[in-house]
Amino acid sequence: MSEDCIFCSIVDGDIPARTVHETDGALAFLDANPLAPGHTLVIPKTHHGQIGDLPADLAGEVFDVVTELTPRIRSAVDADAANVGINDGEAAGQEVPHVHVHVVPRFEGDGGAP
Ligand code: 5GP
Ligand code: ZN
Repeated sequence: MSEDCIFCSIVDGDIPARTVHETDGALAFLDANPLAPGHTLVIPKTHHGQIGDLPADLAGEVFDVVTELTPRIRSAVDADAANVGINDGEAAGQEVPHVHVHVVPRFEGDGGAP
């Protein structure tokens, strides 16, 4: 837990979120400001700022959740594809300093990558 971290507060249940999936070490929940229906974030439950801070086993667990969930999310919202990505560092657009993987469903003709 890191003080004042929104995603740690979600893990602790202090901020509500719509959970999609959960493992011992990872949590997936819907993005509060979705770029598309079904936009999901997958995070490690423990606080790590950027991907280089993630222990390999935890990175593996997070990625396992991403690989399992992405096809399920696509099918749930009838998407044609998905963008799966990490903004790693502020200059790359990372606003929440707790590693998270975006899974953004994409639809033919929806206007390009977010
Ligand atoms: P970043 O720009 O750091 O890669 O992405 C942060 C994401 O977290 C954004 O897509 C934003 O909508 C989402 N987000 C920020 N605060 C909250 C929150 O309190 N709850 C949820 N579910 N998502 C949040
Ligand atoms: Zn955190």
